[in-house]
Amino acid sequence: MTGAPVLEITNLNVGYGLGEHAVRAVRDVNLTVHRGEVLGLAGESGSGKSTLAYGLTRLLAPPGVITGGTVVYHPADGEPYDVLELDDVGLRKFRWAQTAIVFQGAMNSLNPVHRISAQLTDVLAAHEPTTSAAQRTARAREMLKLVGISSDRMDAYPHQLSGGMRQRVMIGMALILQPQVVIMDEPTTALDVVMQRQILGQLIDLRERLGFSVIFITHDLSLLVEFSDRIAIMYGGRIVEEAPAAVLYQDSLHPYSAGLLGSFPALRGPRRELTGIPGSPPDLRGMPSGCSFHPRCPKAFDPCAANIPVLGNPGGGGRTVACWLHPVLSWGEV
Ligand code: SF4
Repeated sequence: MTGAPVLEITNLNVGYGLGEHAVRAVRDVNLTVHRGEVLGLAGESGSGKSTLAYGLTRLLAPPGVITGGTVVYHPADGEPYDVLELDDVGLRKFRWAQTAIVFQGAMNSLNPVHRISAQLTDVLAAHEPTTSAAQRTARAREMLKLVGISSDRMDAYPHQLSGGMRQRVMIGMALILQPQVVIMDEPTTALDVVMQRQILGQLIDLRERLGFSVIFITHDLSLLVEFSDRIAIMYGGRIVEEAPAAVLYQDSLHPYSAGLLGSFPALRGPRRELTGIPGSPPDLRGMPSGCSFHPRCPKAFDPCAANIPVLGNPGGGGRTVACWLHPVLSWGEV
């Protein structure tokens, strides 16, 4: 269930600091999110996936800085605009109402001294000040029901809810203004596997009912394969492969994607040995030359250490890869 583009990221570059000690955390990223799709973003810690999310929503704290690119948002009604050009008023309207984000460890970011009803209605009061108190309460109750929490828990304090319920409240809070895009940054990492799948399954159901798009960020590729329509893999700040989820799972082209897939148990099918990826993610302050994965890549060969492979289309099917093993695919023509 995917439609026209809702978010188009072009040549996005994000760094930390300026000058000779600047670190480039996101490099030349091009990515399009379509209406109603779940786009998975995977990679190890430090691959740039969270920096990408905070960059495109302009939520980067100093010394984070966007050094180039555009993030064009297509509202449901109205002309597209570049999020990176918005002033403070525009940003306030864009965030939460158009694009909401559920942060890592969000379930611990509820205010412990306020009832969840107050925290949900506060969002409405801030963004829709003309609504009455009764309307806000009704919307909060309805949203809690949508995320699977009985309305008799409306007046609970966060400590009276389980971790899974608190995370559901945060998802409800992200959805309460009916945004078109919801960014989930490792939304269920702190929960057990059963609860993770329950919550994500519920989110996908809601996506089908309400029609929003999801950017789902995690290091756990097995979750993405199960819940995403399309997956982009990041390494060293770059997208190194992008493909429909089923295609990537069956036939990943980039050795790093294969390594990630081999690092998690398969959800279905025969049991297999986990292989992992040797070595550690690169230090962004001193990236390896050429393909930044080459020191860890089991398939590295001559051109890899000297030349950076660029993303190319392997001949249709909506997939791209940046790897010298697929030079014709990567470069179109070599
Ligand atoms: Fe491995 Fe070379 Fe491909 Fe990089 S370009 S992933 S080092 S084979």
